[in-house]
Amino acid sequence: MAKNKIRITKKEGLTLLKDADLLGLGMMADKIRCQLHPEGVVTFVIDRNINYTNICINRCSFCAFWRDKKDPEAYILSKKKLFSKIKETIELGGTQILIQGGLHPELGINYYVELLKSIKENFNIHIHGFSPPEICYIADKAGFSIKKTIKLLKEAGLDSIPGGGAEILSDRIRKKISPKKIGKERWLKVMEEAHNLGMKTTATMMFGSIEEPEDIIEHLDAIRRLQDKTHGFTAFIPWNFQPKNTELARKAEDKKIRRWEDKEFSTSHPLNFSSSLHPATAVEYLRILALSRVYLDNIPNIQASWVTQGLKLAQVALRFGANDFGSTMLEENVVAAAGIKYMVSTNDILIAIKGTGFKPAQRDMYYNVIKHKNKK
Ligand code: SF4
Repeated sequence: MAKNKIRITKKEGLTLLKDADLLGLGMMADKIRCQLHPEGVVTFVIDRNINYTNICINRCSFCAFWRDKKDPEAYILSKKKLFSKIKETIELGGTQILIQGGLHPELGINYYVELLKSIKENFNIHIHGFSPPEICYIADKAGFSIKKTIKLLKEAGLDSIPGGGAEILSDRIRKKISPKKIGKERWLKVMEEAHNLGMKTTATMMFGSIEEPEDIIEHLDAIRRLQDKTHGFTAFIPWNFQPKNTELARKAEDKKIRRWEDKEFSTSHPLNFSSSLHPATAVEYLRILALSRVYLDNIPNIQASWVTQGLKLAQVALRFGANDFGSTMLEENVVAAAGIKYMVSTNDILIAIKGTGFKPAQRDMYYNVIKHKNKK
């Protein structure tokens, strides 16, 4: 928790989200960031997102990545290809892979166990993999508990779990945008079991679809309460819904679904409530990022999402509560499927961090600094 130990309530969080002056909220978040990270270092990790398959039975309406098995673009990565991606990652100074995929109906727990074991036998690399919906799907198919499944994956080589699949932890919204996906309680259960088994995980939030301010607070509060219990989240990563190529955006165009339906708000409101699904504005992003820093007083790190916001806004985010630039993402496919592709090199990230007056440092998944990168 930040040194001032002032914990805001859900009601106060909602007021900040709806009504706070943006710069005032940003300054509040920056002050907390400064208390938690007084050394002025901004970290990043060199890794690669590897999506082992895009075949997925869930068909979430906000997702542009999934394909049916018969789709010509459907794939499952061969081990040869996967290994060559890992080799390349290590050659480029990478220390971890983020391995995630769709819910493939023909892959059972043996596939995952064997995959993890073979990666560890061949490479010295941290495996950050399989978000809660994948873990639950693997567990259900095997007839195992979540705890037993995570234990088996951990023994096979899984080091940590990414916070994907959280979207908005409000079942009211999940039922509308991803009815087949696991609900809020199961997402939290996976994280709790992983933390209890000694694994670290991250937490994410996808905002800017059809949720309302109360849903955002419900999400932040669920993460904060679990963190009080387990202390297993290393970081929180808010990012905004990318509507392009998604069924949800098509429904919005057909006026079958509306964003921010609550008529209490108008387009002049700071959160720009509107009836179409446009990508969140920079103002919305910074407001939610800053609120996350203020609300999540027990989570040490907040990531700026340059993948969805671009490097310029990610720089601004460092003064709105973020202390980490996330991953260099030598490869990224999920956000790219929604038409967003910011290509940056590690050097671009170093320049961006230094340009804001912070000192860049390469880290591992546990936020230990591996190398300071402040030299010219
Ligand atoms: S978000 Fe994940 S679970 Fe949903 S369709 Fe996309 S890949 Fe499948």
